[in-house]
Amino acid sequence: MNLSRIKFHSPQTLAEAFKLLEKLREARILAGGTDLLVDIKQGLVKAEDILSLLKIKELRGIEREENRIKIGAIVTAQEIISDPYVNQFIPALADAANSMASPQIRSMATIGGNISSAVPSADLPPTLIAAESKVELQCSESSRQVSLSDFFQAPRETICNKGELLTSIFIPLPPPRTGIAYEKFSLREANSLAVAAVSSRITLEDRKIEKALIVLGAVAPTPLIALKASESLLGREPSDGLFKKASLVAKEEGEPISDVRGSAWHRKELIQILTQRSLTKALKQTQEKSREDT
Ligand SMILES: Cc1cc2nc3c(=O)[nH]c(=O)nc-3n(C[C@H](O)[C@H](O)[C@H](O)COP(=O)(O)OP(=O)(O)OC[C@H]3O[C@@H](n4cnc5c(N)ncnc54)[C@H](O)[C@@H]3O)c2cc1C
Repeated sequence: MNLSRIKFHSPQTLAEAFKLLEKLREARILAGGTDLLVDIKQGLVKAEDILSLLKIKELRGIEREENRIKIGAIVTAQEIISDPYVNQFIPALADAANSMASPQIRSMATIGGNISSAVPSADLPPTLIAAESKVELQCSESSRQVSLSDFFQAPRETICNKGELLTSIFIPLPPPRTGIAYEKFSLREANSLAVAAVSSRITLEDRKIEKALIVLGAVAPTPLIALKASESLLGREPSDGLFKKASLVAKEEGEPISDVRGSAWHRKELIQILTQRSLTKALKQTQEKSREDT
């Protein structure tokens, strides 16, 4: 498709954006454009009007609120990597952002675009779900906050309605003795989507696992919480043996397909390895934090 035929709109405020969206119901939303413009050029998506979010100040910035971090929808992967709050409270998100693509893409790719594109291999959603994040969806009249785990419906399909924008992401500050770790396998060092990925979160209480969430990426139509594997950890003292058993359960919970990047069999093997690795790394984080707190 010839990009020069598309009408480009660049509102300065959210109010202006919603007004435009009411008029241009079929307009495509553009953030960094690293997914959308590729899709348009390849003819996968048609567009007569594009509404760019990049000049809307309300969608920028990472702030610490009382007990959560608020990330604006147009914050880029590069901004996440270098943000002090993200690195202090949820370093796994900085790791996930750092594993994305190349420096050029990371400086354009936004968190809102990464979530909204709803591609199963997207790097940020597994860690955001492990951290129990919510997203804010706004339209001209109202706004709602929903758990990110309820946001995805199918590949490239979300609960975001026409006329709505994803405006912010809220990440609760992890409780003490909590570790979250992201592990990804891709075919090249850079510029490569995940073949499989796992984000694991554990919280310890009296040396036992009080809370656990294992979230699988790129091995199901949407990011998938491995419920049985997560539950198998509860009330137990962490050990290599326990993590190995949980990773075998997670392997059974994945629903991978075979495609150009890997076979379903290979992806299942990867789930097991990445789950064990991410649990071990999350545990190390909780132990380091406990040492810092004493
Ligand atoms: C070479 C290359 C390598 C890549 N490697 C990776 C990788 O390793 N890992 C990875 O996860 N991704 C990767 N990607 C995909 C892409 O860069 C990311 O998904 C990126 O975060 C998308 O963000 P964006 O701001 O560019 O989104 P855009 O392309 O602007 O938008 C993506 C989709 O989300 C919608 N959208 C955007 N923002 C909003 C909003 N606030 N509200 C509602 N809808 C919205 C758009 O309409 C569009 O449908 C790669 C892409 C390329 C081209």
